[in-house]
Amino acid sequence: MTIPFFPPDLFAADRDTLLDCLYEVGTDPEQKFILGRRTAELEQALREITGAADVIACGSGTGALTLAVHALRIGPGDEVIVPAFCCQPVASTVANLGATPVFADVDPWTMVMDPEDTERLVSERTRAIMPAHVFSVMADMPKLNSVARRHGLAVIEDAAVAQGAVLDGVPAGRWGDPGVFSFFQVKAFGTAGEGGVVLTDKPDLARAVRMLRNHGQDGTHRFLHHRIGYNSRFDEVIAAFQLKRLPGFADRLERRARIAEYYGERFAPLRDRGVQAPPSGRNGRCYYVYSLLVDRREDLRAYLSERGVGTHVYYPVPLPRQPAFAAHATAGRTWPNAERAGLRNLAIPIWPHLTDAQVEFIASSVCEFFE
Ligand SMILES: *Cc1c(COP(=O)(O)O)cnc(C)c1O
Repeated sequence: MTIPFFPPDLFAADRDTLLDCLYEVGTDPEQKFILGRRTAELEQALREITGAADVIACGSGTGALTLAVHALRIGPGDEVIVPAFCCQPVASTVANLGATPVFADVDPWTMVMDPEDTERLVSERTRAIMPAHVFSVMADMPKLNSVARRHGLAVIEDAAVAQGAVLDGVPAGRWGDPGVFSFFQVKAFGTAGEGGVVLTDKPDLARAVRMLRNHGQDGTHRFLHHRIGYNSRFDEVIAAFQLKRLPGFADRLERRARIAEYYGERFAPLRDRGVQAPPSGRNGRCYYVYSLLVDRREDLRAYLSERGVGTHVYYPVPLPRQPAFAAHATAGRTWPNAERAGLRNLAIPIWPHLTDAQVEFIASSVCEFFE
């Protein structure tokens, strides 16, 4: 059995659907390929599902974060506290606007931003915090939001990987204002291309994001530029495709959660062998990726590879240790938990279309390594 980590058949069941969408948009007399009625319909559907007053579709998750940071008028002289163990956009979107990303360490087990370290980093210049949900676990939003409230900071919730997750009854993307989802292929509601959204309850913020995504225009007056903006527009074929995939989304999430439950049971006995599985349960869980923390990671990885089980290592080098952020890595500061997470995490497949036999094979292969 060979199970690649990044499956080539992720959208196999939807191939005909995608071709239909392409034909439908391509032959529509409207000939509108971006920001048309299908994009508006997808935005409306996501408003209804999440309860957000507004959802604005844009070019990607990174685009959504950029528009959110920009719409909050964060710029030179401002600081935004971001997780040290994460993908680049949490820091690059801040730095690209001339502001300073300040890196907080993460929880050693769940690998999400540590609220205590976040609070220690608040300065007179801090304007916002940008927690991101990571792998299977939502960030500790109740604590992070109270840090933000105490210091009068905005919370930009990077829910790129956590669409559909719910913590204490509140959906991911709705704990911060703004919140952001990504539709990059491997994300929970991933697609066969690019896309993302900004969620907000604030009319002013929504208006700013809407303008910024299309060169500062208001959507009515062509070539009237209220602000200096971007091209971060949404594709109509992708909108049509996502609308067709939306009804199956809950089932795909449920399948991921069930696989995670099964993994959790199989891996619990490995705790004293240097293997930490993600915390189990459903509250605040997203199961975008299932990442184990393993002392003998490289050995386990090689063993699984020999057995045909693909794995993936996320963020081996923390953001503040990257050459790109050398100027932002405060001298003398260290991020021990981010470093350790980079050395120990090993993601195993958790795709919703895996068969039960494949899931069992993956779990057994991990367990056999420790026998
Ligand atoms: C994927 C991701 C993004 C960026 O989304 P894109 O759609 O790939 O631009 C931002 N933040 C996190 C945490 C992500 O995982």
